[in-house]
Amino acid sequence: MTSSVTPVKHLVAEARTFYNETFGNDPEIAVCAPGRVNLIGEHTDYNQGFVLPMALPLVTVVVGRQISGNKVSIVSASEALEESNRVDFDLPTSTTPLLPGKPRWANYVKGVIQHYRAHPLPGFQAAICSSVPLGGGLSSSASLEVAVYTFLQQLCPDDGDDKAKAMACQKAEHTHAGVPCGIMDQYVSVLGKEAHALLIDCRSLEAEPVPLVDPGLVILITNSNVRHSLTGSEYPTRRKQCEEAAQLLGKSSLRDATREDLEAAKDGMDNVTYRRARHVIEEIRRTSQAAEALRQQNYKEFGRLMVESHNSLRDDYEVSCKELDELVNAAMEVRGVYGSRMTGGGFGGCTVTLLQADVVEQVKQHIMEKYNGSPSFYITTPSEGARVLSL
Ligand code: ADP
Ligand code: MG
Repeated sequence: MTSSVTPVKHLVAEARTFYNETFGNDPEIAVCAPGRVNLIGEHTDYNQGFVLPMALPLVTVVVGRQISGNKVSIVSASEALEESNRVDFDLPTSTTPLLPGKPRWANYVKGVIQHYRAHPLPGFQAAICSSVPLGGGLSSSASLEVAVYTFLQQLCPDDGDDKAKAMACQKAEHTHAGVPCGIMDQYVSVLGKEAHALLIDCRSLEAEPVPLVDPGLVILITNSNVRHSLTGSEYPTRRKQCEEAAQLLGKSSLRDATREDLEAAKDGMDNVTYRRARHVIEEIRRTSQAAEALRQQNYKEFGRLMVESHNSLRDDYEVSCKELDELVNAAMEVRGVYGSRMTGGGFGGCTVTLLQADVVEQVKQHIMEKYNGSPSFYITTPSEGARVLSL
């Protein structure tokens, strides 16, 4: 039952060896970008609301070098791909864009190249190594996109605009991976700050670091290691329901709606749409309150809001599942746990738990006993966003 996180320098060493074995020369550039965990503010980002994620010590590393010509060759060391781990293609031109294709994982990379904000990109070879679990709700996808973007910045510098960088990566996920995601994952992967959570206002795109360091506190991520196939289809459905609710309320997004607005319109709304909107409106409020609680180091209040968030995701937004509920319930049974909730899109993936450092082993043990599956644990601290590394 380990919960240690592979140090970045080990990942770089791994990526370097893998690169060398594949391409027969040494990389000259190394970069990384983190995955993230969302502490609170779930399914609020595409409703222009608040989210409060932090960047993780789990990262995607890209190492590589420029080559002559217009070819790109990339290998991924991930063992979870179920398709070829190597891809070779030509750089896009103004008349021939890079289109999505096979292998599917490479679409995240192709999308970033297509939307990269400076030209001309040279050909390159690269190897990818990641400690972010794939498809676990910790945003391996955004960490891959942002790592690739950061790598491209070393080959052909852009203007250094971090927000535009995050948005280009988000666009890559939309157009090439077919996931209509909000801005949170890419934003925190770019702008995350060590020892801080990041309060992001998804309407203004302002991001405010909120201090989160306390030696007496642990942020424990528990991976359920399940992912139900609903994930793909349910996400666009929820988005549509939110848009419908906002429209019924005469608002451009649910960010502008209050609970009073919703109650006044309740009779003209079907119950499902009502509950979806109730989750979003309340979750936006909870997230601002949670940020305030964090500023005051009021972890008890923060934890209470986490549990409220989980219950709302389970009952009103209906994106939890029995495994996530089990993990949250088990965690909350241990004294010294402030709060616990599912994190990420739902239907599997991870929970995040805020607890007193001195009970962490006890919590893990209790979860192991209570959970009808095999969980993985990560003890995490708020980490730095994307960065260039030395080789
Ligand atoms: P999450 O972002 O929560 O981890 P997603 O389904 O959004 O889950 O993204 C996971 C997908 O991203 C993988 O299936 C794969 O296609 C791609 N991906 C992420 N990390 C890597 C990696 N290191 N190598 C290759 N593909 C990756
Ligand atoms: Mg993702």
